[in-house]
Amino acid sequence: MIPVVALVGRPNVGKSTLFNRLTRTRDALVADFPGLTRDRKYGRAFLAGYEFIVVDTGGIDGTEEGIETKMAEQSLAAIEEADVVLFMVDARAGLTAADQALADHLRVRDKTTFLVANKVDGIDGDSAIAEFWGLGIGNVYQMAASQGRGVTSMIDQALAPY
Ligand code: GDP
Ligand code: MG
Repeated sequence: MIPVVALVGRPNVGKSTLFNRLTRTRDALVADFPGLTRDRKYGRAFLAGYEFIVVDTGGIDGTEEGIETKMAEQSLAAIEEADVVLFMVDARAGLTAADQALADHLRVRDKTTFLVANKVDGIDGDSAIAEFWGLGIGNVYQMAASQGRGVTSMIDQALAPY
């Protein structure tokens, strides 16, 4: 089985930027994944010697009625179908209540989760990420998805068991 990696996190943390980087080199969009839905985007990725399916979430713009419920629902569904979760937060914006809520769910659900602090380009990453240790997920991986920094090493660690 090809492992499934879900990108979850509140809007604007850089999930789609990472998804596009992981999938852009080929005709990667997957059309026949079980449970395929418009609310989540599936792509085939090859990196660090691994082939995997990457799932993007959050294709809604924040103005819909019941937005929080909808986002939560698709994040939860993506988490359920994933082998590995990349939980993304914004190192520039800092810790938010939405990050905390997702972290609480991931801890209860006990899924293999890697916490990724994105947008560390041009800032002091080590001090920016310090507060994210408080989410209780474990190690905080630094990334700048738009620069491709930290992406390969993240995938290399996340997919090591596969
Ligand atoms: P999503 O809502 O989680 O899918 O976030 P997007 O991928 O749409 O990114 C939200 C914004 O953050 C966009 O303006 C991106 O260009 C920007 N962004 C994404 N990754 C990075 C990064 O590594 N560094 C910086 N500085 N900006 C980023
Ligand atoms: Mg997005």
